[in-house]
Amino acid sequence: MALKQTRGASRRIEPTMDQPAAGDIGIVNLARSEAAKAEITIRPLRGNISVLMGSGGNIAVFSGPDGKLFVDAGISVSRPKITATLAAVSPDPIRYLINTHWHFDHTGGNQWAHAAGATIIAHENTRRRLSTITRVDDWDFTFPPLPDDALPTEVFETDRTLSLNGAAIALEYYGPCHTDGDISVELADDNVFITGDTWWNGFYPFIDYSTGGSIDGMIRATEANLARVTDKTIIIPGHGPVGDKSQLAEYRDMLVNMRDKVAAIKKQGMSLEEVLTARPAAAYDAKWGRFLIDGFFFTRLVYAGV
Ligand SMILES: [Zn+2]
Repeated sequence: MALKQTRGASRRIEPTMDQPAAGDIGIVNLARSEAAKAEITIRPLRGNISVLMGSGGNIAVFSGPDGKLFVDAGISVSRPKITATLAAVSPDPIRYLINTHWHFDHTGGNQWAHAAGATIIAHENTRRRLSTITRVDDWDFTFPPLPDDALPTEVFETDRTLSLNGAAIALEYYGPCHTDGDISVELADDNVFITGDTWWNGFYPFIDYSTGGSIDGMIRATEANLARVTDKTIIIPGHGPVGDKSQLAEYRDMLVNMRDKVAAIKKQGMSLEEVLTARPAAAYDAKWGRFLIDGFFFTRLVYAGV
């Protein structure tokens, strides 16, 4: 999916030939219409764990005789494609859906997953955000509350362990980082770790200041992720390809360097407009700026938090 954010940016970024401008319809509607067109791909990873891609954020699926566990549920319009893809893999029913955080591209499938039998589990702040009207200024979008049957029914504060298919599944709250409700999911028996949107593998991440996110929180969460994984861990990011510890470390270095760079020039008294003109992300853009968040947008997100 090639999208470019323009709405709400201080500086308008012109769309390239093959990338539509988000400014006209907004980034949320654009992501939804892209998902409607996208094919869903499934990739087996290790043991009974697979990842589905093509509907907003990545969806991890753990299958077995007790039923399936989903980590995140994509965008609602993808339901027929997701169910068809999964039916081809195994007939196990959906028992649990874990929401890594409240964003629409991870919780859009809550209602249908619940109707299919899933118990939805999330951090308490995720449920709170989904239960009320929530505005994200940087997306210029106001989300209505989800219907009651799409809300998480089991919430926790710091951590929670589930048992399914003979495995222990560990959920842990990061503290405020990408939003104020992000959690990690670890399937330790298979050495698979799921970061939600604390990690965008190969891309600048979005940081949702409207609901408690910050650049410092993102860096803290990334350090916590690095401390939890080894060179053999398969790491499923919120967006981007499945990755490993060395890629996660490279992402941490980019976040830290950008934070330090932007903080230093902001301290000299530069306005946001002047910082954007200085282009502190220029050296990173070719590698990290090719998805939703370009270098200007990411600089603005960092500037807001230093
Ligand atoms: Zn998100």
